[in-house]
Amino acid sequence: MTPVPALPARLRLRQLWNAANLTTPLGLVLALSAGCRVRRGPEGLLLAFGYRWGFPDGGAFTVGSMVLLRPHTAPTARLLAHESRHATQYAWCLGLPFLALYFAAAGWSLLRTGDPASRNAFERHAGLADGGYRERPPRWPRRSV
Ligand SMILES: [Zn+2]
Repeated sequence: MTPVPALPARLRLRQLWNAANLTTPLGLVLALSAGCRVRRGPEGLLLAFGYRWGFPDGGAFTVGSMVLLRPHTAPTARLLAHESRHATQYAWCLGLPFLALYFAAAGWSLLRTGDPASRNAFERHAGLADGGYRERPPRWPRRSV
């Protein structure tokens, strides 16, 4: 059996904190309820394969340290780096408050650009391109030419 390399302290702390703030357990309940196969991933993440429910949209999303992946989504290093940043955002937002803050940021982005990611501070911080997003320009305020 191959020994599992030790996690750096900051990632171990994030893993423990996201378990204690109940976001990773919530992600686990969601993954198991949706019939996903759960495996260990890099950086202390858990990967749930085969998520088929309609909400949320997109190829992958993160709840705590649990990354839920749709059947057609490959867990590439870039995508997992993006989702790992979301796991860190959950930790900094003390867990569940992240969801309210994230949806507020997504609403703001939708209003400004017509898509929920382009001006969403959390998606921008996690890396739009790494998450598979194409940045849309703001619809307002209009720039005069
Ligand atoms: Zn994202």
